[in-house]
Amino acid sequence: MAESSQRRPEVAIAGGGIAGLATALTLHQIGVSCVVVESVAELRPLGVGINIQPNAVRELFDLGIGADQLDTIGIQAKEWALVGRNGQDLYSEPRGLDAGYEWPQYSVHRGQLQMLLYRNVIDRLGPDAVRTGMRVNGYTPTAGGVTAHAQTRAGERVDVDATLLVACDGLHSAVRAQMHPDQPPINWGGAIMWRGTTQAAPIRTGASFVGLGTFEQRIVFYPIGPPDPTTGLAEINWIAEVTVDPSEGWGDADWTRKVDLSDWIHHFDGWEFDWMDVQALLRGSDQVYEYPMVDRDPIPTGIDGHTVLLGDAAHAMYPTGSNGASQAIVDARVLGACLLEHGVSAAALDDFDARLREPISSVVLRNRAAGPFGLLKLIDERSDGDVHDIDAFVPAAERAEFMRRFREAAGFAKDQLNAAPPTIAPGATIRR
Ligand SMILES: Cc1cc2nc3c(=O)[nH]c(=O)nc-3n(C[C@H](O)[C@H](O)[C@H](O)COP(=O)(O)OP(=O)(O)OC[C@H]3O[C@@H](n4cnc5c(N)ncnc54)[C@H](O)[C@@H]3O)c2cc1C
Repeated sequence: MAESSQRRPEVAIAGGGIAGLATALTLHQIGVSCVVVESVAELRPLGVGINIQPNAVRELFDLGIGADQLDTIGIQAKEWALVGRNGQDLYSEPRGLDAGYEWPQYSVHRGQLQMLLYRNVIDRLGPDAVRTGMRVNGYTPTAGGVTAHAQTRAGERVDVDATLLVACDGLHSAVRAQMHPDQPPINWGGAIMWRGTTQAAPIRTGASFVGLGTFEQRIVFYPIGPPDPTTGLAEINWIAEVTVDPSEGWGDADWTRKVDLSDWIHHFDGWEFDWMDVQALLRGSDQVYEYPMVDRDPIPTGIDGHTVLLGDAAHAMYPTGSNGASQAIVDARVLGACLLEHGVSAAALDDFDARLREPISSVVLRNRAAGPFGLLKLIDERSDGDVHDIDAFVPAAERAEFMRRFREAAGFAKDQLNAAPPTIAPGATIRR
């Protein structure tokens, strides 16, 4: 067994995704040393579009990652809208600055966000801060700390000793599997998502998130970049989704699985409108990825002594609420606040779990019940699907209240967020 030759970090972070890198930047900001141990040999900009809600954008701004950087990897969202299968508007609300938040909402390319965070980590913490090609496969408590057990791609075992282990190793977290050996398998409710990006003309506000269709069959699309000044075309992220009988289960949930368009595009035959040619949008992507809509059941605790789960490792959720990455960033910041209060200690992790466990578990279950798309479910249930007069089925006040409750549960209710003090006060560093 090889022992790490590097200086002992206070915190070892398993996984260099959005959660792991946001944690590294936060720890550096408050004066806590850390190392990120990442399984892939080289970080590459994988994935397609995601949204960063204002509560998480606020945290990125507080990390010194402002609009100057975020505007290079995405676009500030202006609207969230639902449109029925017949093309009828069902609901829309402004988003980000247009909704009165003090911070924008961003629609970005997930891989570009990861690379942006990675560049910031390397610039601020140095090139040794992220050790790639090392998979963490377990941990052992030690006197006053923890050892993370990792393995290189060549099969060499490497132990990383630290005071705390922060597991940001995603949906298939090895640390979570050790912490909760009896956890049930990944939960799949039958929805399949095909994802891609296409150069196309943005519609509505030019930065609108549109959910088009019904609860069980829909397409979501939104731009993740500004239009080209010459062509007027922008990179449009899309997710085509159908729900099937889940009784046979799904095998492996892999974000990078590519499939042929011809296998599934028939589900969207005839989806053409004078304002959007859905078939052309779907056919315009170079690559199409297939992913089951999966999550994991909430867990009673995300800590074990000096080890804590963060991001998807702690609370993988359906992407219906567009808040998985946002919650990962917020987790990192709340952890930083707990370390500031209690020092680099198990007590900080206890406090972290106490603050976030219950509200996040309820967001996981809310997203499983379709998150904001629950509004489509409500409309479908009360109508025959051909909704021309939405007010006759779900009055405007009820639609608005439904969305208000979702934003509040997901932690980005406007008035509360605008009035809240920063999670980490400017200049705060840990007491020694
Ligand atoms: C390749 C990829 C593509 C994605 N694409 C999309 C997308 O298009 N749309 C979307 O909504 N969400 C996508 N996601 C998920 C999304 O990034 C997360 O839901 C969210 O950002 C929370 O981030 P996270 O850091 O907790 O998890 P993740 O972003 O999943 O990051 C986990 C990180 O940990 C690493 N890792 C995994 N296991 C280990 C281990 N045992 N030891 C060390 N490192 C490990 C992974 O390589 C990864 O870098 C993708 C995730 C990945 C990994």
